[in-house]
Amino acid sequence: MPELPEVETVRRGLERQVVNFTIERVEVLRERAIAAPPSTSLFCAALEGCTVTQWLRRGKYLMAELRDHGEAAGHWGVHLRMTGQFLWIDEPHPPCPHTRVRIWNTAGQELRFVDTRSFGEMWWVPPGEALETVMTGLQKLGPEPFGEAFTPAYLARSLAGSRRPIKTALLDQSLVAGVGNIYADESLFMAGIAPRTPAGQVGSSRLQQLHGALVEVLHTSIGAGGTTFSDFRDLTGTNGNYGNAAWVYRRGGEPCRRCGTPIRRDKLAGRGTHWCPRCQS
Ligand SMILES: [Zn+2]
Repeated sequence: MPELPEVETVRRGLERQVVNFTIERVEVLRERAIAAPPSTSLFCAALEGCTVTQWLRRGKYLMAELRDHGEAAGHWGVHLRMTGQFLWIDEPHPPCPHTRVRIWNTAGQELRFVDTRSFGEMWWVPPGEALETVMTGLQKLGPEPFGEAFTPAYLARSLAGSRRPIKTALLDQSLVAGVGNIYADESLFMAGIAPRTPAGQVGSSRLQQLHGALVEVLHTSIGAGGTTFSDFRDLTGTNGNYGNAAWVYRRGGEPCRRCGTPIRRDKLAGRGTHWCPRCQS
């Protein structure tokens, strides 16, 4: 599943390629890709004729700012969910069976949304309306990991007294936006914290390390073009390469890169959790 670094990588790709992109035509091949408005023809009509002026990201949500002849024309929101991806099509070619939405500019170039599992969603938010009233998932999001509100003190305050495992807390989007399984496992290893440790019992110096580790691992991964895993591709169809550099993620049974102890893989809150029983206590 794309996590924050992958989504940020996609945002940067869109920002390079799909800004000042005037939408000539929209074709929806699968209705359930459009979450709002309820009719796909309204969605197409709202986007057609608009120009994308910039791409924003909040958690794992992408938002394109739209203008119509210079006037604010709302936002086009996108969540990639499990397998959604954008492809930039320079030369016309027929869509694959998993193509959900096709968007052409006035030059006949196409931004294609392909989604094997079909959980990806798009919204149109009318001008003047708050994004979170239409894209309701935004309401639940905690601070951005790179934002000013995300500090070690914020973590300590939010986790005080919590008995749920620290790994589970990190996956909670209301604690911090955009962190998923890979970066939770990696940052817990880097901070030397066992994933089942009750969140409220992680000491302040460990929390400080965890905060630093999260920011670092997310930064590194954005630099690497998003983690390599089965379905993630950037706009040019390229995989990132953080996966090759993982400390623990998907390394169950392999020797810890720091101490040689076999990495364990357990289920925690339904998610595969990778950790070193020696380095993380
Ligand atoms: Zn180890």
